[in-house]
Amino acid sequence: MIVVMSQGATKAQINDVEKKLVQLGFKTHAIYGQVKTVIGAIGDKRLLNTESITSMPGVERIVPIMKPYKLVGRELKPTPTVVDVGGVKIGGPELAVIAGPCAVESEEALMETAVKVKESGARILRGGAFKPRTSPYSFQGLQKDGLEILASVREATGLKIVSEVLDTRDVETVDRYVDMFQIGARNMQNYRLLQEVGMTNKPVLLKRGLAATIEEWLMAAEYIAATGNSQIVLCERGIRTYETATRNTIDISAIAVIKELSHLPIVVDPSHAAGNWKYVGAIAKGAVAAGADGLIVEVHLDPPSALSDGPQSLRPEKFHQLMKEVGLVAQAVGRSL
Ligand code: PEP
Ligand code: MN
Repeated sequence: MIVVMSQGATKAQINDVEKKLVQLGFKTHAIYGQVKTVIGAIGDKRLLNTESITSMPGVERIVPIMKPYKLVGRELKPTPTVVDVGGVKIGGPELAVIAGPCAVESEEALMETAVKVKESGARILRGGAFKPRTSPYSFQGLQKDGLEILASVREATGLKIVSEVLDTRDVETVDRYVDMFQIGARNMQNYRLLQEVGMTNKPVLLKRGLAATIEEWLMAAEYIAATGNSQIVLCERGIRTYETATRNTIDISAIAVIKELSHLPIVVDPSHAAGNWKYVGAIAKGAVAAGADGLIVEVHLDPPSALSDGPQSLRPEKFHQLMKEVGLVAQAVGRSL
């Protein structure tokens, strides 16, 4: 539920209401607005005699939250959240572009890729150190060495870094290196992992599960928020359908639906949606036109020799051209790159 404080309620009154709610077993989140303050209270409402709250000084009324996701929904927080990734804002007027290889392969290659994607307008570098591969015999990533490489490339280029964490046992280590955690599609409903990153104070890029509904996706985000971390960026990366011409089917409508239901920013990964570099541009431009807050694109110096996801990776020159086109689309919808 949401406790709406009256205009002019004092800080002491707000604190008293929060204290009372905590005593009653609720988790509280106060949102200080310019005119009014609201307190989100998550817990078992059945145990509450609402009178005990509505009668407190400074309380205007109580509004129930109808949706099953509370903290990440618009009911509690109507204004959009802007996530700050080491100074790079996701969810503001400027689009945030994340680019880089599927996996970190070597320091030289990552450095060269990073310099190139930065020149083209990317501000965050991606690169998997722990790779969730369909086959246990495929390249599993350079793991800790990959994180070291990412950190040294950040040092040299100033790009922020995002990398996937696959397991609760690795959260502490990955936390020491990255600016943003990535939770992959296959782990979207790994609730212990979601809680573990929820206990850090790093932004989290939460990919949509391969067959997850939007509600399941938002409930996954709720796990992270409920553990204390509301710096979450949703990532639409295509879902499983009967179509086999593309690796996944991009759900462009998810952008509009998420914008209505949640205050969290949403970015689109055209690479994993397409599975083929030829379709990446069309999806990327469509996503920006539809209101996405950014993109995450796989870029590789020599896609045929990539250790993972070569067929869907753009060469740096192609990425450069795409960024120019994305800039024009962004302008047309009132955003900048
Ligand atoms: C990736 O980003 O390289 C990746 C594995 O993505 P997803 O989890 O969306 O499949
Ligand atoms: Mn990949």
